[in-house]
Amino acid sequence: MKTCSKCGVEKELSEFDRDKSRSSGFDHRCKVCASEKNRKWRAENPEKVREQDRKYYAENHEKVREQNRKYYAQQRELTAMGQAMDLQEYLEGA
Ligand SMILES: [Zn+2]
Repeated sequence: MKTCSKCGVEKELSEFDRDKSRSSGFDHRCKVCASEKNRKWRAENPEKVREQDRKYYAENHEKVREQNRKYYAQQRELTAMGQAMDLQEYLEGA
């Protein structure tokens, strides 16, 4: 167990990100606090976020495209399934 320096809550080590630069080997903030800080940083630095996203996309555009393709295929499938179920309900209800 480890106490978060931000929220002061004692949590399992799995709730902390690993940080090799620290003697403990773990971040001093829990994952929740770390992601909250990240969210704030993104809100305060939109142009840096854009730059990061742009760079990420440039380096991983194949991966991003593949992820998007999978996501949309899955959404299409779910929508088709939902429509089929609605139709069935409609037929059964009629
Ligand atoms: Zn915390």
